[in-house]
Amino acid sequence: MPEGPSVRKFQLLTSPFVGQVVAKVGGSSRKINVNDLNALRLHDSQVHGKNLYLAFVAADSPLGPTAEETVLQGEAASGASSPAQGGQEQVCGPQARPQEEELQGLLRSRSEAPDAAEGPGSWLRFHFGLFGSIRANEFSRANKANKRGDWKDPIPRLVLHFESGGFLVFYNCRIHWCSSPRADPASDILSVEFHRGRALDALRTPDPICHTLLNQKYFSGLGNIIKNEILYLAKIHPLTQGSVLALPDLERLLDCAVQFSAAWLHIKLRGKGLHPQIYQKEHCPLGHAVMKGTLGASGGFKRLTWWCPQCQPVVPSGDGDPAPATE
Ligand SMILES: [Zn+2]
Repeated sequence: MPEGPSVRKFQLLTSPFVGQVVAKVGGSSRKINVNDLNALRLHDSQVHGKNLYLAFVAADSPLGPTAEETVLQGEAASGASSPAQGGQEQVCGPQARPQEEELQGLLRSRSEAPDAAEGPGSWLRFHFGLFGSIRANEFSRANKANKRGDWKDPIPRLVLHFESGGFLVFYNCRIHWCSSPRADPASDILSVEFHRGRALDALRTPDPICHTLLNQKYFSGLGNIIKNEILYLAKIHPLTQGSVLALPDLERLLDCAVQFSAAWLHIKLRGKGLHPQIYQKEHCPLGHAVMKGTLGASGGFKRLTWWCPQCQPVVPSGDGDPAPATE
């Protein structure tokens, strides 16, 4: 699943389209009625942890906070008003300007959506799957044949064509309407507001450090690759209990988390790929054989973890026992 730095890059792909009106839609998403997005203006784009949020308002609504009422009124208005979009006629689908009754229908169906508990909203939340991605002005092409030998291009969940002629394509993601972004910059490792004290408190519990790092409540945006790499950089065994580590060790781990995530983002923005030191490696950079195990909190997600037993030695747990054995 794309981690914080990847989702930040996705957000940067969407930002040139902020302020533009959706002229045509497509995609296979069944979670939302993609036609609801026709004739709306992309108003804002935000990233929080591993989630991307896009705000939509009616094309003719005043800029400012996106109030639900504005969207509803605006949707009706954009359906009725004559477009000032000039030559965009040919790219507008037939649903681009639905009639008033149809709009009311759309609004009703939206409020009956499964996530209606959060209220129908003007924000779309994107949560990316393992191979989730966004493309701007290009479609993803098959880079290998599938099991049947077909070269089949990935099917987009959502395609947004804008009045400028540019378009955004969303692959392998879950899409929901929501009333507002679930934002907690204090837990976002890529945010300047990231709260080190809170993160430090979370790390100091007796839980294995590799479980705590993946807790999005404290380390939003931190995923399995970052976890593996920073534990190697900080020379900490993944199953070490946070409570037995000295404060300077935990501080160093936090430094690694913040610096590594920021560095990865910069690498991505330069169009380069990450060269992991331990993730999916057989040897660490010092040439030691690397161990691999499926680790995770009991009842929670188990994630493949790589570590070097020499660079990241086992630390006895608080009650004197060695750290739990792994395969
Ligand atoms: Zn090593």
